[in-house]
Amino acid sequence: MNCKNVVQKLPDYLSHTLGEPETVGVRAHLDLCLECREESRLLSASWDMLGLLEPVQPSAYFHARFWEKVRQQENVVLERTGFFAKFPFVPALAGFFVLWVLGVAGGARLFAHRHETATPMEIALNRFTSPYPQNSIEIIFQEGRTPTGRMPVTHQGESL
Ligand SMILES: [Zn+2]
Repeated sequence: MNCKNVVQKLPDYLSHTLGEPETVGVRAHLDLCLECREESRLLSASWDMLGLLEPVQPSAYFHARFWEKVRQQENVVLERTGFFAKFPFVPALAGFFVLWVLGVAGGARLFAHRHETATPMEIALNRFTSPYPQNSIEIIFQEGRTPTGRMPVTHQGESL
């Protein structure tokens, strides 16, 4: 029996559903072949983790039980995440959409604010109450001025 044969028969071997002569053949190969022994160990360990192997009693329904377990696992995963499991891109899209809306709304508000509120009275008030120094960039921005100190066209009607 070569390695390929043995690896193919490992599931049946480990679940004790292999015929007697083949079982002997696989066992003999595993005694000699380190790689297949490792393969067998890994397979058996992963089955242990899934709770598939009952070490004492061989089961004739092993294959059926195996696929039933797999199906159960899949159902659990699906139930856990439901809608988003079928459409995994939805949360990301929703996130981007929210950020986009916030960005647009925020930007629009900023612009509206900049052009609507800077009446001479408010500028005077702002200078009085603002924590920022007279010609800081924050004040300039709040008053809708350009850094040269002249008011934009929208307020004074003069060209820049
Ligand atoms: Zn081998």
